[in-house]
Amino acid sequence: MKRIYLDYSATTPLKQEVLEAMSPYFTDVFGNANSLHAFGRDAVRALDDARDKIAYLIGAKPNEIYFTSGGTEADNWAVYGGVTANKDKGMHFMVSPIEHPAVISTANRLKENGYDLSYLGVNSDGIIDTDLLKNQLKKDTTLVACMFANNEVGTIQPIDKVVEICKNNNTLVFTDAVQAVGSIDIDVKKLGVDMLSFSAHKFYGPKGIGCLYIKNGVKVSPIISGGHQERAKRGGTSNVVLAVGMAKALELAKQNMARANGNIKRVRDVFVKTVLQGLDNAYLNGSVEFRLVNNAHFTFKGVSGEALLYNLDLKGVCASNGSACSSGTVEPSHVLKAIGLSDSDAKSSVRFTFGEEVSESDAIDAAKAVISSVNFLLGR
Ligand code: PLP
Repeated sequence: MKRIYLDYSATTPLKQEVLEAMSPYFTDVFGNANSLHAFGRDAVRALDDARDKIAYLIGAKPNEIYFTSGGTEADNWAVYGGVTANKDKGMHFMVSPIEHPAVISTANRLKENGYDLSYLGVNSDGIIDTDLLKNQLKKDTTLVACMFANNEVGTIQPIDKVVEICKNNNTLVFTDAVQAVGSIDIDVKKLGVDMLSFSAHKFYGPKGIGCLYIKNGVKVSPIISGGHQERAKRGGTSNVVLAVGMAKALELAKQNMARANGNIKRVRDVFVKTVLQGLDNAYLNGSVEFRLVNNAHFTFKGVSGEALLYNLDLKGVCASNGSACSSGTVEPSHVLKAIGLSDSDAKSSVRFTFGEEVSESDAIDAAKAVISSVNFLLGR
């Protein structure tokens, strides 16, 4: 049975060129980047090159790039570190209600520790309400966290407007760009954000490495201490091989972006059209206009999303019930609830995310499998 992978927002396969770029750093160039001898110098050179390349590709300075263990750590650090380091300005901070759990759970932890948390508004298309934000900001609001693109419904947020509004209030803006970097061309300087997170495994790089961009001059307290790595802000022996892989993957993503996005969107659109034509109980969630090109997120009214996923898996179609990070939980997705779906509709939803390897005929086969599985589960 042919398998069709439609879960690229959960993770992507490592590209062959990335593996080749990483290969020497698993074995020959194994030194600790902090060692003063020749082995260490070779390692630190590779680490610096990776940092330079990544900085260049997102419009940052090399000393504004901090390597982390992934998107989760970068998100934790930005929120916790940004809020706690700026408590002399105030105790209030805001997050959007559709953030990844890495942001939401950190925000809740800060709230339990006495910080004043409030949520941005979001409309039924999954776009945050910037007019409301203007009124919600307080004199003592230190930080606003609003993701660049949502991992469940794929909506792209008006971060430029968020920055404009927050600048006037001297409030920091952090954006989780884990689903955006690699498929949207991002220039942090033009965007004007203070912090931005991303993760290599979302753009055909290795798992276990991410970055936090921190604009020079922004105060952020460390969350991992115990070493002078990453300019004394994030302790731990540097993972040179993963940094090399991340830089190579981002370089390739940027080179291929226009072509890959065109193909992915075309294939995704064929899938969406076929599903909507074949099922009268299928509804596409999230904005059609402001949306990642690889995302199709449906509610299939009256059908258990989980049962549908199992049924599709039996047919070789691999999708997700929202975010890989929360699949397996019984609670309906907080994102779908925030955009106004009922608990039962939220539990009847499935995310399909596309990548470069998916062909148009795969998309049609997958759509047919969705249609027959939904009909089967409805007993028709
Ligand atoms: N933020 C978003 C929007 C994500 O989609 C994910 C992972 O799916 C993360 C953060 C966590 O990234 P990582 O898997 O690198 O920890």
